[in-house]
Amino acid sequence: MIMSDKLQIKTCPTCSSDQIRRVVRDIIRKYKGQTYTVPKVEFYDCPNCSEKVYDREAMLKIEAHSPAYHKAEALIEA
Ligand SMILES: [Zn+2]
Repeated sequence: MIMSDKLQIKTCPTCSSDQIRRVVRDIIRKYKGQTYTVPKVEFYDCPNCSEKVYDREAMLKIEAHSPAYHKAEALIEA
């Protein structure tokens, strides 16, 4: 099976734990005191050291929801 555009992680880049695993979660972020939610983001989460690793797809999704990248829309929605 070839998954060339997906990040494949077997061990945590921070603590080398092999407990790191891919999860799908809503993530909550803050931008200049404003909280926003990004639904169903896939990323790697290490239960050992709480490291989180986002691949390109996840980063793009987070950016798409960030008020920093959509100031005009954020103002309208607020
Ligand atoms: Zn770790």
